[in-house]
Amino acid sequence: MSESLIYELSSPGRRGTPTPKLDVPEAELPAGLVREDLPLPEVSEIEVVRHFLRLSQLNYAIDKGIYPLGSCTMKYNPKINEVTARLPGFTGAHPHQPEGLAQGALRLMYELQEHLAKIGGFAGVTLQPAAGAQGELVGVLIMRAYHRARGDTQRDTILVPDSAHGTNPASTSMSGLRVVQIPSDKRGNVDLDALRSQVCDRVVGLMITNPNTLGLFEENIEEIVGIVHGCGGLVYGDGANMNALIGVVRPGDIGIDVMHYNLHKTFSTPHGGGGPGAGPVGVAAHLIDFLPDPVVVREGTDAEPHYRFHRPSQSIGRVRSFWGHFGILVRAYTYIRMHGSEGLRNVAEHAVLNANYLRCRVRDTYHVPYDRMCMHEFVAEGRISGTGSTAMDVSKRLIDYGVHPPTMYFPLIVHDALMIEPTETEPLRTVDAYAETLLRIAEEAVSDPALLHEAPHVAPVRRLDEVQAARTPVLRYRRQP
Ligand SMILES: *Cc1c(COP(=O)(O)O)cnc(C)c1O
Repeated sequence: MSESLIYELSSPGRRGTPTPKLDVPEAELPAGLVREDLPLPEVSEIEVVRHFLRLSQLNYAIDKGIYPLGSCTMKYNPKINEVTARLPGFTGAHPHQPEGLAQGALRLMYELQEHLAKIGGFAGVTLQPAAGAQGELVGVLIMRAYHRARGDTQRDTILVPDSAHGTNPASTSMSGLRVVQIPSDKRGNVDLDALRSQVCDRVVGLMITNPNTLGLFEENIEEIVGIVHGCGGLVYGDGANMNALIGVVRPGDIGIDVMHYNLHKTFSTPHGGGGPGAGPVGVAAHLIDFLPDPVVVREGTDAEPHYRFHRPSQSIGRVRSFWGHFGILVRAYTYIRMHGSEGLRNVAEHAVLNANYLRCRVRDTYHVPYDRMCMHEFVAEGRISGTGSTAMDVSKRLIDYGVHPPTMYFPLIVHDALMIEPTETEPLRTVDAYAETLLRIAEEAVSDPALLHEAPHVAPVRRLDEVQAARTPVLRYRRQP
């Protein structure tokens, strides 16, 4: 490893690029501007190039191989998105540019709002939230504002099933509301009796992840919506998993009042590095006036349309500086237009097919506790009975085979969980190879348990002390003495 650290390559006086001869009079730099004590590496151009290329190759990416990280929808990101996001008219646009000079960008935002509204079955959409979790917060604030505007001010509780994504209770707490957890039943659905026992006039609404974090479609979703609406509450749908539903189910049709989309999951923005993303929120007609400021509206005639920003009459206010993460909006727009409605339906159908195929190939070896038709992902138990091997061991061993492990130890309602989401963009032979690797690792767990306990063996770093890494992270390079 050490030869890949650029500091170790440094030798005094070496330069990457020559600076041109001065053609202006020499002047003193203001004091304090130049720090003499910074130990910057002195290296040549080729060493810099190789350093960064080597670093990039140490990393794993969807462009390198399958990345079945459940709940994250690590699908292939079409390169055409990068072309459109780099069009000079978009990259050169300034957030303070007058509306009249940014009509192309506004039109794109307007049309994206319309497409997302149509896909989700909603009356209005905001593109402002910068991530799924921020979309959730915005959605909860909209629900709260709706009740307050009606004088229904005693409502202070959000119901959250235990199969929800962890951001759901977090967003609720951030908005100052109380979380009440609803258990799941044996089939992985919301326990209806438990739900009925909790609905009352204190309930702002229910936040439901559908498909839930078990990868299962909520079989009683219409009844659930009815129960919550029956007490005057609203239903928030976590739409981060729209990859399973797109073009097939419109959550608005089921009675979901508000939902966020994850553009960086379903609509193909690279997100392995942790952002930026975008979490637009769609709402039913009765919530449209509460959307954040601004939304884009269209005026004028069909022949001569004009687009402008608009503040909804009872808006919850601004949630993001300027106009959201515009580059992500361009990518999502491109993705939607490239696929068309047929193509988007295909996305969902193949995502579900790939996940079910993989589930059926491994379920005799890795126990699947809620073993029914899944959506875009499924959850198996990672431990291999009678061997002492855990989900952690299996995941680390997958790294030795050059593929990315699934999400681990989530959801909490499955012991030793492996949450596997192959996505629609993986070809059959890649899904087959992943299944065979998982099966082979299960055999190794029997024949050579130490191989798993000590994995990974061939990765740039061995098994890390994850507790130590989180408690006392080393965030910068220190030159060895
Ligand atoms: C990813 C995800 C979120 C949160 O989205 P971020 O963009 O990471 O904030 C919320 N709910 C579900 C179900 C998710 O998979």
